[in-house]
Amino acid sequence: MDLFEYQARDIFAKHDVPVLAGEVIDTPEAARAVTERLGGRAVVKAQVKVGGRGKAGGVKLASDPQDAVDKAGAILGMDIKGHTVHKVMLAQTADIAEEYYVSFLLDRTNRTFLAMASVEGGVEIEEVAATNPEALAKIAVDPIDGVTEAKAREIVEAAKFPADIADQVVFTLQKLWDVFIKEDALLVEVNPLVKTGDGKIIALDGKVSLDANAEFRQPGHAELEDKAAANPLEAAAKAKGLNYVKLDDGNVGIIGNGAGLVMSTLDVVAYAGEAHGGAKPANFLDIGGGASAEVMANGLEIILGDPDVKSVFVNVFGGITACDAVANGIVQALDLLAGKGEEVTKPLVVRLDGNNAELGRQILTDANHPLVEQVDTMDGAADRAAELAAK
Ligand code: GDP
Ligand code: MN
Repeated sequence: MDLFEYQARDIFAKHDVPVLAGEVIDTPEAARAVTERLGGRAVVKAQVKVGGRGKAGGVKLASDPQDAVDKAGAILGMDIKGHTVHKVMLAQTADIAEEYYVSFLLDRTNRTFLAMASVEGGVEIEEVAATNPEALAKIAVDPIDGVTEAKAREIVEAAKFPADIADQVVFTLQKLWDVFIKEDALLVEVNPLVKTGDGKIIALDGKVSLDANAEFRQPGHAELEDKAAANPLEAAAKAKGLNYVKLDDGNVGIIGNGAGLVMSTLDVVAYAGEAHGGAKPANFLDIGGGASAEVMANGLEIILGDPDVKSVFVNVFGGITACDAVANGIVQALDLLAGKGEEVTKPLVVRLDGNNAELGRQILTDANHPLVEQVDTMDGAADRAAELAAK
């Protein structure tokens, strides 16, 4: 989960990373009082989860409270690289002498953490990496040892930070590492980290991405979610504990057991759809092992609630949970939905294979639901589901 800059700023402050005071607002007029609180001047910053706001006109200095109201009015509602600005942060202005770059991230390729630092910050770091790679120091960080003072000094030396601010950068790197570890982040980036005219180091812009897999031990992170931006179907699925991802431009709802099977189901449906007017998968939904009636009903409810869906493909490979249990789950799920007044109105194509497939198929045949069709092969079922969606 990517955070807004103001949320990153708050988390930085919580872990003693030096930041400037700031407040977030969503109406221009609110800028007046905030700017007065900040001492009469402010930098007005668009809050969108995309970089390059400065270049796009989303970062402006306001010289007095009225100017802040005007600039907030100009920035609110602005479109930055496809992101509409709904909030702006007003922050204390900094007198910038130099701009640097520092970050910590997960280095998947090398199975470790990585620190990156450069004294050429402020600009897009991808540009520095491409045009002047030796200006970007990359230092591996052992996940057990972390960023000790010695490690922080190694980073500072590798990036050639000036001696007068070296100690402050060492301190800041250790605090940023606290953010990275204690908040279970996948990325903590500061660009720019600035040196002010009077020689202070401040994190002026922060980008933090949190690891959703750590949600269970980070109860405070739930409220950082941008609920307004969440897809309502995905939000409903999440509330039901389902692994669901909505896909664009699809019309075949997909349910399967096991992430690998569901991913290959998306592929075969997209392929089959080429012969049926470009029918495409509308979602990813892995109901996992077990596939109880309740889980099946929850999954069907989400998928049938998607107006884009014209047909549903239930693709199950019986393993530890045998096909007869899954078939019973499907039958009970249809009853459950009917009982709630959510009668299934879209055709369902079911393919059962693997453990007890014969028995499972018999259960569905006996149930004789008017909208449920069985096809024995995955390719055949994908083709039928695509055909039904195209009708
Ligand atoms: P980004 O473009 O989305 O990365 O947004 P930043 O927050 O990094 O701001 C872009 C640039 O605006 C920075 O690199 C600074 O040069 C400038 N900037 C941001 N805040 C201030 C400030 O308080 N004072 C001054 N003078 N410049 C600022
Ligand atoms: Mn920046």
